[in-house]
Amino acid sequence: MKYFGAHVSASGGVENAPHNAKAIGATAFALFTKNQRQWLAPALTQEQCERFKQACAECGYAPHQILPHDSYLINLGHPEAEGLDKSRESFFEEMARCQALGLDRLNFHPGSHLNKITSTMSLNRIADSINIALERTEGVTAVIENTAGQGSNLGFAWEHLAHIIDRVEDKSRVGYCIDTCHSFAAGYDLTSAESCAKVFAELDSVVSLKYLRGIHLNDALKPLGSRVDRHAPLGQGTIGLECFKFIATSPIFDNIPIVLETPDESLWPQEIEMLKKWAAQ
Ligand SMILES: [Zn+2]
Ligand SMILES: [Zn+2]
Repeated sequence: MKYFGAHVSASGGVENAPHNAKAIGATAFALFTKNQRQWLAPALTQEQCERFKQACAECGYAPHQILPHDSYLINLGHPEAEGLDKSRESFFEEMARCQALGLDRLNFHPGSHLNKITSTMSLNRIADSINIALERTEGVTAVIENTAGQGSNLGFAWEHLAHIIDRVEDKSRVGYCIDTCHSFAAGYDLTSAESCAKVFAELDSVVSLKYLRGIHLNDALKPLGSRVDRHAPLGQGTIGLECFKFIATSPIFDNIPIVLETPDESLWPQEIEMLKKWAAQ
């Protein structure tokens, strides 16, 4: 089964997200469970959690169709003790919020070395940070998102994902999410079905596709290998439609949330419709 959706608004309350997703014809969705630009938020009440679960049941979304995203402030590979501690505490809270909402995964950007420690040291910190969060929570998988490699952001090479996952103790609760724009910006060519097959075969050999827990479906504004993260609507960027058709039709991407983060929200219903049509062919 293929599940397509978008990163929808949860403003006014997390329980609004499933309704917003349903309104655009989505069979998957992503959301922030709190303001993504704040470190901490008041804990969700029992009532809020119940309302969210109820809304998901009403709209027909099971946990494996939902890909929550954490705050952009968190840096689990932070070179300094203060920033690292703050990030780890905030990440634990994000994981705990997912657990309270009955969600089974949390998508996050791995982290940055900020040019103060080596990439390897920072990657090791990210893995330790995941271990700490997994120890303090239950039932939620930490889903590492690959990045465009902008600035000192890590996670742009498949080897980075493999390095982190290798050091996570509980392999049953770690995975990754592939963002097509980030992959392309990082130098992975996704412009044809053949190049997509090659890129995902390489991903499988470096880090195993069994850890794949989600997809972010974005076209890119910048050329291959630009290391710049700018999303474009599907078919209006430098990747082109072949990649999205490949993902909509290949069984590699069955049973995981496939989520648009494309910049023009008014196009989401059409983009989802196009993906559904390809999947049905
Ligand atoms: Zn993304
Ligand atoms: Zn991005």
